[in-house]
Amino acid sequence: MTELTTTVYYDDDADRTHIDDKTVAVLGYGSQGHAHAQNLADSGVDVVVGLRADSSSRTAAREDGLRVATPAEAAAEADIVSVLVPDTVQPTVFEEIRDGLEPGNTLQFAHGFNIHYNQIRPPENVDVTLAAPKSPGHLVRRNYEADEGTPGLIAVYQDTTGEAKEEALAYAHAIGCTRAGVIETTFREETETDLFGEQAVLCGGVTSLVKQGYETLVDAGYSPEMAYFECLNELKLIVDLMYEDGLGGMWHSVSDTAEFGGLTRGDRVVDEHSRERMEEVLEEVQDGTFAREWILENQAGRPSYSQLKQAEENHDIEQVGEPLRDLFSWADETDETDADKPE
Ligand code: NAD
Ligand code: MG
Ligand code: MG
Ligand code: MG
Ligand code: MG
Repeated sequence: MTELTTTVYYDDDADRTHIDDKTVAVLGYGSQGHAHAQNLADSGVDVVVGLRADSSSRTAAREDGLRVATPAEAAAEADIVSVLVPDTVQPTVFEEIRDGLEPGNTLQFAHGFNIHYNQIRPPENVDVTLAAPKSPGHLVRRNYEADEGTPGLIAVYQDTTGEAKEEALAYAHAIGCTRAGVIETTFREETETDLFGEQAVLCGGVTSLVKQGYETLVDAGYSPEMAYFECLNELKLIVDLMYEDGLGGMWHSVSDTAEFGGLTRGDRVVDEHSRERMEEVLEEVQDGTFAREWILENQAGRPSYSQLKQAEENHDIEQVGEPLRDLFSWADETDETDADKPE
């Protein structure tokens, strides 16, 4: 087997003394926030959840046995401030908590966007780290409760104490990530690969492939239901096989006809032109064009975003899919709607 090109950190590599006597403020109680807060608390770390006075999540956090304060109060009390509100509201929340950051405190993230694109400029006397499970929050929590781990990333952007990396590893340990393995990356690499992946492949690329395939069949006179099953529904089976055993596992499981057809036709559909478009998309991530567009879009009240969401909801494949999914609802393995939310 080929060696990994990077070090993977496990439980034994983490020194919990870097977090055990500290207070962690978890800002936000959404997908990541609820999981980090509960896992940290169950690991014996002192946790305070930072939520606005009118936040509907306050009740949930209290019912889960956690202490709740405003983001400003929580950050002022804490040694480590874990910023787990949505990326688009983080700059505003940062203004509320800035005064509570003392020298040697840590500002911690689960995604590098705001630091990498300078939307948050942290003071020079705090550590700035990343500790990000590679999974939606409900799985981070479920795995922890099952004594299992969730693979994760750590990164250090600013190290004033000389202990930033050790503390990030200890945090990753306390939320269960070192049970499964943690890889060290940089804010730049995490941010750029995450954006590229979700744009070109995972969310953007795949939905375009599905829609074009569906439209090709329907326009040629085939039934929308057949097109839906062939181009959308069956995708899950194929992805599951790739997830379990790579591309080879998938090719092994499909028929020889599917394998020969796929190997001879796939690269004609997603070809060197698509590859050039991918490189453009990556360049826009790297040079900040995408970040600027998304920041301005938010400042303007999300006009294009709303329009694009509406158009996607109105696509034929969605109209056809809804009743078909109801027919097959017995096949649902999980009722958790964020199960497939990309991080
Ligand atoms: P989320 O949208 O699930 O939850 C955010 C929470 O923040 C809300 O539940 C609420 O408690 C709070 N909040 C919302 N608006 C607020 C406001 N205006 N002011 C104050 N608090 C507010 O967020 P998430 O998906 O958990 O993302 C948090 C961070 O984790 C982001 O940086 C994200 O990129 C990162 N991340 C997410 C995932 C994932 O799977 N969801 C995976 C890895 C990293
Ligand atoms: Mg403080
Ligand atoms: Mg990602
Ligand atoms: Mg088939
Ligand atoms: Mg992302």
